[in-house]
Parts: sequence; structure tokens; C-alpha cells
Amino acid sequence: MLFIFFKRLQTIMFCSAVLFAVCSSYAAELKTLELLRLRTAGDMHHVQVIALFNENPDYKIILLANPARLIINLRAAKFTVQQEKIRLHGFLEDVRYSMMSDGYSRMIFNATSGFKLEHITAELVQNQIWQLVIDLVSVSEMEFQRVIQKQQSQRDSAKKRGDKIQKNQLKNRLFTVVIDAGHGDFDSGAIGVSGILEKEVTLAFAKVLRDLLQREPNIHALLTRDNDMFLRLNERIMIARHYEADLFISIHADHINVDSLRGVTVYTLSEKSSDTLEELAEYENKKAALLKDFSSISDFSEITDILIDLAMRETQAFSIDLATRIIDSLKKGNVHLIKNPHRYAGFRVLQNPDIPSILIELGYLSNAEDEKKISDPQWQKKIAVLIAESIRGHADMHMWKKTSFLDCDGLYMCIAR
Ligand SMILES: [Zn+2]
Repeated sequence: MLFIFFKRLQTIMFCSAVLFAVCSSYAAELKTLELLRLRTAGDMHHVQVIALFNENPDYKIILLANPARLIINLRAAKFTVQQEKIRLHGFLEDVRYSMMSDGYSRMIFNATSGFKLEHITAELVQNQIWQLVIDLVSVSEMEFQRVIQKQQSQRDSAKKRGDKIQKNQLKNRLFTVVIDAGHGDFDSGAIGVSGILEKEVTLAFAKVLRDLLQREPNIHALLTRDNDMFLRLNERIMIARHYEADLFISIHADHINVDSLRGVTVYTLSEKSSDTLEELAEYENKKAALLKDFSSISDFSEITDILIDLAMRETQAFSIDLATRIIDSLKKGNVHLIKNPHRYAGFRVLQNPDIPSILIELGYLSNAEDEKKISDPQWQKKIAVLIAESIRGHADMHMWKKTSFLDCDGLYMCIAR
């Protein structure tokens, strides 16, 4: 448990470090790239382009045909020299500057004949002044076409490599949902008015939901148990941790002395239970036990507290997002819900500090109508479809937040998106 927690803590610390690095580089990038000076030299055979920037230009070069052009791709840049009349040499006849819609910019040189790249350098020549030097050599039309073709095939193979990497990344990044069928074996859970056992309906429902989620291309769904076996609450959590779950859903069916009460309830973790004081007291006890696990790493003291708190806050926000989506979806599907269907409780299975967790009570086995519905495969399927839709929406949002692909268009431009 502690080892896993440490692993998680390392991940959180690593993420914080990454976040810091990202923030730092972002701050550095706030300085706009500026083209300070542009000049050319040469003749009809050889042309040198010399451009001075206030920062590392981080350029990408591309050649285009019909007409022959030299393109310098840059991140968003200010072209201070734009107003100046620049004298161009040799086969270069015109220069334009453009801002692309995606926030990048370009310098475009038109040429009167085909050419190829001979040499490129970019170096810091003075304090804060970067010099980009591009040497171009005139070539025959036939050779120019070959240069363009070679460039295209390099771009295609780089794109293929990029696509492959992206596919692999996606494969490794399936959104993992662990579904926990409540109770099992000698722990039958609640007993319905006609004798239906909670452990049986929770397992049946968990399997239906698992099968539906498995059809989703970006979701990997697993069960904590797929037969009539007993699992401790801790073991259920450990299974979710073992699979590095992005989501943990515990399925139950309730029982109460008020036999008219019926409807679905969705629980998320809270420090305050929205139910009875006894449950709250029980939760406090459990929380104390949970904190005891963490106290052994009190050497990290303040930073540990902050990191656990951050992890729990984010986890809590994700849990609430999913609970809200499920309730909205069930409402739209005209499913009977209890009054104030999103409730808060300190159930042990919800106490994963870093895995968003919810607990769904499918209804009340103490109510004849609910019992009939909960054990009806058609009703189970209908509810599972609505829940699976909510999970898909939640997963998309979650994956989008986590996604930060670097999409490289060949050798010429990388766009972080
Ligand atoms: Zn239960």
C-alpha cells in the first residue's frame, strides 16, 4: 500500500516538476520572436540569406515548386523589417511575411529558378541576437523537381512514423475503468422483498456495464470480481490501483425500512456524509485509519500534505463530474432517482486519493418495484447504456486534459496540441 502510494507520490511530484518546467518554458516563450534584420548576398548561382532574430528562431525550412519558393516556418513572430525595402540578390526576387491561423508565421521567398539548400546554421552571435544563415545554390529544373520529391518522401515517412507513435500512445493510454460488484460469497449484501440477493444483481449489472464499455475503442473495462467471491473493501481498492484505474465504480443496491422509498443514488466521497451522523462518525474513523497510512511518510510533511490534498481535490472534481453526468443522463432516460440523487458519503471504496471513484446504488431491494427492475436484464441494459454514455463523455474530457501530443509534420514543423 505504502509502496504504491510512494509510486503515486513520485508521479505527482514528477508531474509537478513537469508542470513547473512547462510553466517556465511558457514564461520564456512569452517573449515574442522578432525578425530584427534581413539581408541577402550572392549571385545567380549562389545566394546567402542572413536573418537576425532577438531569440533562437527554431525554424523549419521547406522548398516549394511552381513557382520555386523558400519557406521559413517560425513560431508567431514580429517582422520588424517588414516596412523596409530589402534588396534581394541572385535568383531571389521577392519576400513576404505571413501569420498562419494556427499562431505560427512564415517568411516566403520567391525565386526565379530552381535551387537547393546547401547549408543552414543558426547561432547566437551576440548577447540575445541569433543569426540564421541559409546558403542556396541554383539547380536545373529537373534537379529542383528531384529535390522537391525527396523532401516530400521524407515528410511522408516522418508522418507515417508520427502516426505510428501516436497510435501506440493511444493504445497505451486507454481509459481504464474498474467496476466493482458489491458484496459476494457469504456476504450477500441486502436481501430483496422476494429474496433477490444484492451480491447477485450487482455482479449481473457490473458484467453488463463492463461488456458495454469494452466496446468503446478508448476504454478498457475490468471487474473486481466476476464470480461469487468475497473481497475485502481494501482488496477492491488494491485491484483498482493494480490496474492503474482512471475510474472506479462500485455497484450496490440498497435496503431500507421505508418500503416506499425507491430510485437510483450516486455517491461520491465527502468529508461530510449527506446521510446520518453515525455514518459520518464511521467515516471519520476510517479517515483516521487512512491518514495513519500516510503519516509514515511525514518526513515530506508540508509538501506531502499539499500533494495529497491536490491529488484528492482533482480526484474529487473528476468524481463529481462523472456523478453529475450519470445523473443527468439517467434523468434524460426517465430513470427513477431518489430525491437529491447525488449524495456524499465516506464509503471506504471511495477513499482512493488518486482514483476518481463513485458508488452507484441501483435502487432499493426493500421496494418491490425497484427489486423487480434491478433484477430485470432489460432494465439493467438500459441503465448500463446511460451510464456508459456518461463514462464515455467523462473519459473524453479526462483524456483531452491529459493529452499533449507533439504532432510533427515531417521535418518541418512541430505543433504542440
Ligand atoms: Zn451494498
